[in-house]
Amino acid sequence: MITLDGKNTSKDIKEELEVEVSQLLANGGKRPHLAAILVGNDGASETYIGAKVKACDKVGFESTLIRFESDVTVEELLAEIERVNENTDIDGLIVQLPLPKHIDEMKVTEAINPIKDVDGFHPTNIGRMALNLPTYLPATPAGILELLERHEVETSGKHCVVIGRSHIVGSPMSILMARNNYPGNCTVTLTHSRTRNLKEITKTADILIVALGKPEFVTSDMIKDGVCIIDVGITRVKSDKTKSGWKLLGDVAFEKVKDKCSFITPVPGGVGPMTIAMLLKNTLISAKSKLGS
Ligand code: NAD
Repeated sequence: MITLDGKNTSKDIKEELEVEVSQLLANGGKRPHLAAILVGNDGASETYIGAKVKACDKVGFESTLIRFESDVTVEELLAEIERVNENTDIDGLIVQLPLPKHIDEMKVTEAINPIKDVDGFHPTNIGRMALNLPTYLPATPAGILELLERHEVETSGKHCVVIGRSHIVGSPMSILMARNNYPGNCTVTLTHSRTRNLKEITKTADILIVALGKPEFVTSDMIKDGVCIIDVGITRVKSDKTKSGWKLLGDVAFEKVKDKCSFITPVPGGVGPMTIAMLLKNTLISAKSKLGS
């Protein structure tokens, strides 16, 4: 069993980015600049945004955190997005999700200029991804591709089963694994909450990508020997064994399945750190060449 180590792989990527930033500056360019909008003060969102800002610092990017109270109006939010869209110094803009219920997330996503949409969530960029055109790939799926590639996991002709059909992970992942490219060229089955006989399907998977948000959902009887498992799930659960009083669990019962796997990502330290690294990579792409121009 080989662990797909996202912690170290993301460290490598960040070091590569640092070098690229130095080269950019040496050639008279400016520092890549990521802006992030955070609405409210949800603990998990604060943690994620904090990690993104810290990562920007680490690789030499500039970052701007724009905060709003949770009662912000859609109009105020859209006006701020427009200001960032027009600010030529800013290369990438992300809006931390989830947003409060009174705000239509799709409206907000659509307001971001696609050339600054480094999360890769804008319909234009999702469309470009589906057509295999140059674009910003959504950060989590992009991180998974990078993990597979850097560990030379064979994908061509394999049966890839994806559990979960969210817009940010499961759906784009299913498109990317089916595309005519490496990593890709899989025969893909996308499963979700209405799928019947899930276990019969997962047992035929050569590559199993799990993103449903239910801790330790995938157990040993659901997989075949030699499977490569990518565990995207992150759920905070109480624990009396840690100082903080909580721990993170993936969607896969790691200890119970690991010996049957050819490759597996741990939680934490698998897909999570890769997501941030790919967000930075997308921001650098934007800084280096504005898409479509
Ligand atoms: P989501 O919460 O939007 O949707 C869950 C999906 O799981 C749905 O499509 C649903 O149909 C499916 N599902 C629910 N129950 C199911 C069942 N019993 N059988 C089969 N499918 C079922 O999904 P999301 O936003 O992709 O998040 C999934 C998990 O991944 C969460 O734990 C989230 O925290 C985590 N996540 C991690 C990262 C990262 O960087 N590591 C990024 C995004 C999400």
